[in-house]
Amino acid sequence: MRIMKRIRLDISRAALTVVALVALTACGRGGGQFTMRGAVLATEDLETADWPRLAHEMGINTLGTHITPDQVLRFWQSERGRRFERDCRRYGILVEHELHAMSALLPRSLFSLDSTMFRMDEHGRRTADFNCCASSARALDTIASRAKWYAQRLPATNHRYYFWLDDGAPVCHCPDCAELTPSEQALMIENRMLDSIRTSDPRAMLAHLAYYSSLEAPRHVTPREGIFLEFAPFQRRLDRPLTDSLAEVAGIGCNARNLEYLRQNLEVFPVETAVVLDYWLDVSMASGWKKPAVELPWRGDVFRADLATYAAQGIRNVTSFAVYMDSAYFAAYPDKTCLREYGQALSQFRRP
Ligand SMILES: [Zn+2]
Repeated sequence: MRIMKRIRLDISRAALTVVALVALTACGRGGGQFTMRGAVLATEDLETADWPRLAHEMGINTLGTHITPDQVLRFWQSERGRRFERDCRRYGILVEHELHAMSALLPRSLFSLDSTMFRMDEHGRRTADFNCCASSARALDTIASRAKWYAQRLPATNHRYYFWLDDGAPVCHCPDCAELTPSEQALMIENRMLDSIRTSDPRAMLAHLAYYSSLEAPRHVTPREGIFLEFAPFQRRLDRPLTDSLAEVAGIGCNARNLEYLRQNLEVFPVETAVVLDYWLDVSMASGWKKPAVELPWRGDVFRADLATYAAQGIRNVTSFAVYMDSAYFAAYPDKTCLREYGQALSQFRRP
């Protein structure tokens, strides 16, 4: 009798475990909202519009500052920046800094001291125009220690750091770097930066930005634990879903090609921590990066279709540029339907 009872007990425990596991899997895979529901703004936007309150009202839980480390540092240390930080804390909004950083991390003035820290162009000449030599130990030491310096002064409350290479710029062609793709060179630099940042923030994670020339997944360099994929499909049309193989972008590709790159990168980087940085709210892009801003041509149907596409890849973290959404923008275009739909779709997303 006791044995039977014991067996029944074990069976019911096993059944409970199975139920719990199924529930956990369902939570992990489907069901819920996106973990990161973000927007990335330039300091000018954050200085003039009350983004912490707006984010809170719209269901956005993460704000990224932008563009360069020094711009953001000036804002962060100003009275307006301190208020931004306080308000984000009050509303429970996480803050991160998405930075085009290489020229700040390796000051161009160091060229006269040691030109081998800088990239070699296709003609075999060292140049301080962009980026660095990824094979120069001295360059990587300098970059890593300055990344830590900025990370200490611009802490990320979600422990995600973003120190990107120069925007869409060429990389090094020296004999040691020549065989490495832009994404492999970037990853070598990122691995080194993460080690350094972790000496001050042990929970730090650092983005590997797959974007423009670094969309291709790195094959010959392995990401350290803590490097996460940040996927930014810049070469896409926003009036058509990402799955659309006929949505061509000026002869350089089509929307669906981005998805191939995403899948490739998810073979290398963990999907759990990966972030998609898309352009649905990017007024600066819609305005051709020139003010005065035009009204955002918001396509809620495309956005929702893209969310389903990203969710099907296992993506849990999504953010979008919303640059140029400053006080002048909201004065000219007060309708906030796009932000409301954006936050709602991310918060209320249900997987099929
Ligand atoms: Zn090199």
